[in-house]
Amino acid sequence: GNKPAIIWEPNDPEEHHRVLTYRDLHQKVVQFANVLKNNGVQKGDRVCIYMGMVPELAIAMLACARIGAVHSVIFGGFSARSIADRLHDAQAAFIITCDGGYRGKKEITLKAVIDDALEQCRFVKKVIVLTRTRTPVSMIKGRDVWWEDEIKKVETMGNPDCPAEEMDAEDPLFILYTSGSTGKPKGVVHTCGGYMVYTAYSFVNVFQYEPGDVHFCTADIGWITGHSYILYGPLAAGATSLIFEGVPTWPDAGRFWDIVDKYQVNILYTAPTAIRSLMHYGTEPVSKHSLESLKVLGSVGEPINEEAWHWYAKHIGKGRCPVVDTWWQTETGGIMISGLAGITPAKPGYATLPLPGVQPVLVDEHGEELEGDDVSGNLCIRFPWPGMIRTTYGDHERCRTTYFATYENLYFTGDGCYRDPDGLYRITGRVDDVLNVSGHRIGTAEVENAINMHAGVIESAVVGYPHDVKGQGIYAYVIHEGHHGDDELTRQDILQTVTRLIGAIAKPDKIQFVSDLPKTRSGKIMRRILR
Ligand code: AMP
Repeated sequence: GNKPAIIWEPNDPEEHHRVLTYRDLHQKVVQFANVLKNNGVQKGDRVCIYMGMVPELAIAMLACARIGAVHSVIFGGFSARSIADRLHDAQAAFIITCDGGYRGKKEITLKAVIDDALEQCRFVKKVIVLTRTRTPVSMIKGRDVWWEDEIKKVETMGNPDCPAEEMDAEDPLFILYTSGSTGKPKGVVHTCGGYMVYTAYSFVNVFQYEPGDVHFCTADIGWITGHSYILYGPLAAGATSLIFEGVPTWPDAGRFWDIVDKYQVNILYTAPTAIRSLMHYGTEPVSKHSLESLKVLGSVGEPINEEAWHWYAKHIGKGRCPVVDTWWQTETGGIMISGLAGITPAKPGYATLPLPGVQPVLVDEHGEELEGDDVSGNLCIRFPWPGMIRTTYGDHERCRTTYFATYENLYFTGDGCYRDPDGLYRITGRVDDVLNVSGHRIGTAEVENAINMHAGVIESAVVGYPHDVKGQGIYAYVIHEGHHGDDELTRQDILQTVTRLIGAIAKPDKIQFVSDLPKTRSGKIMRRILR
């Protein structure tokens, strides 16, 4: 109980950090679980969580799990409209949020965005609001309550216990929305038993976790990486997990390295986009730090280019830390193809080998299996594994057709892959209409739908293009009429529309106005040509 479970490093290095031991965390989770019950949340209810990276986010998720409620965390960068769509899809009547959040120099207004979303969601019964930034917020009588007040109510009840709800292994643990090749994000459902087994198993083996290790995963908990490798995997293994509220480049580009030294981090797990953005600052912000505590480095979210891999291994790992390039997806729940740190061979740009128990298969476009080595094809998985997606919320058929119908008796990942003469796997990127921008998945159809909502836009087509830092950038071709004679202003208006409808993460990097789009005879846009 006295072992640290969560170390929280705030956005502003001047603010005090917090350490929650396993005992503290248990007590706070029980307390908040009672708050949820007092507010009418029951087993099976869907609870939407829209918060910044504060320890209470972890407490809220675990409190849901404790009472058998199904959490659905929405990344803090999504717009009101995106939230409303997800609330409708999940029929989530409860929301947990913050007044605001900090990200580097920026303050983000979380509650105000929720208020806008709720204009379209009258079925929401309760909104629990945590104080973080003390920005003024509107609190609607009967619907909105303060986290702190609700905790006080539980305390005056003499802090009752809250035994963990008994769950079936196959009961849902959470829903997490992710983009696909259609315009509508799907709610990926993970279960209590298999997901926890798989995140714990993969965490311990891939990173070769040893008791006492401090693990720092830099992802946001709003994405699957944060769910699996900040929260569930490390905590199931009894590790100490670091939650960082800020961004890698504020107050300066040495922020990650300060944190590594300050808490003697042993395992660092980050994304190629973060590595590439830090490479731009050179080695000066790194060289001021010892980084001696580091034992293992991990990469996730997108293919890592060789240059970034070598920089990471040399300047951060000092040539003595194994680097694991971990391939997996929201749907797989945990890491599927990756080295085991220090045990299996590494090769820059390669995720290398399937985890024990995982059976990757490469197929050609007809579904014929490509045997042997030195072959490229579409990556499928043959045999089920504990952490695999169980359904897409509210639409099981969609799950079947998206993942299990393309190739008979195989799970189709949507990724292309090469197997080298040594049998090592290299992920080559998505083969469907899904982009990977800074490690975030965005469907081209979603962006097109948003652009097409803008007045004057007749049609649009979106493709990815190679981007130095983000991995992929978003390039939009737009047919537009009746603009106010100022292309630049129209561009800004379109960006504003996309931000309002999806969020700033989906803003195109480039917009080119065109008079027509290349199409097949049946009217399908030929993206290959646009690319
Ligand atoms: P998400 O579900 O948002 O985590 O995105 C999953 C997608 O990210 C995969 O289908 C891949 O296209 C990409 N991806 C994740 N990890 C890696 C990796 N280590 N190497 C290459 N691509 C990756």
